[in-house]
Amino acid sequence: MGRHLDYDALIVDLDGVVWLGGRPIDGAAEAVAKLRAQGIRLLFVTNDPSRSRADQAARLAGFAIPASPSDVMTAAAATARFLAGRRELRGAAALVVGSPAFQQEIVDAGFGIVPHAGAREAELVVVGGHEQFDFAELRAATRAVANGAQLFAAGRDRFVPTEDGPEPATGAILAAVETATGVTATVVGKPEPYMFEIAREALPGCERLAVVGDTLASDIAGAKRAGLDAILVLTGSTTAADLEDAEPVPDHVVADLPQLAARICA
Ligand SMILES: [Mg+2]
Repeated sequence: MGRHLDYDALIVDLDGVVWLGGRPIDGAAEAVAKLRAQGIRLLFVTNDPSRSRADQAARLAGFAIPASPSDVMTAAAATARFLAGRRELRGAAALVVGSPAFQQEIVDAGFGIVPHAGAREAELVVVGGHEQFDFAELRAATRAVANGAQLFAAGRDRFVPTEDGPEPATGAILAAVETATGVTATVVGKPEPYMFEIAREALPGCERLAVVGDTLASDIAGAKRAGLDAILVLTGSTTAADLEDAEPVPDHVVADLPQLAARICA
């Protein structure tokens, strides 16, 4: 079972930890309830920039995990906060290659939105994976960057696994923009440390924080780069066998969220 773990807040990845594809992971809701009853603060994080925090909160609630938008940090929300924190960009005009939810995060962070037709006016281009991506959007982003706009992205994930097979993710679209422009983006989502640093800011007063995730290359690597403890669960993309020569090394490994709750609440 392992020794007792002492944390006052957990930054919890969603896919592979709370749910897998469209299905809840056994015991996850009960584990969340147990941790919350113990006073542990939870912030759910996801690299998916296409859905709003409200959507993700509603999805959690649908799996018997009560949540509000402020309980969720998406790569889109983190990117918006990251940009808002850069003085030189304050109030800048942004071209968003991304979903309506991503655009809204950028608007809410105080930026103006430039339509595709006005690409040359853009001072920054922000990229997030979404289903409506098309050539016109790629052309607008290319022209904006060629005209001097700075390039940012919510992540570099190549694809996300779904029940029907892999779905191209932010990294695939970003590769098109980077190839067309020859410019490398500043990336905010996992495994870059920014997302976890922003998540930490969303948990004021918490001192003993850990990231809980299922993927070594994103959750665990990002947590360590942000100076946080990293807890690996084996309910998603990583198996016990993968850990033999794992790099980076998680601080703790648990079978699943229920086992983590048992160790923290013991
Ligand atoms: Mg995951």
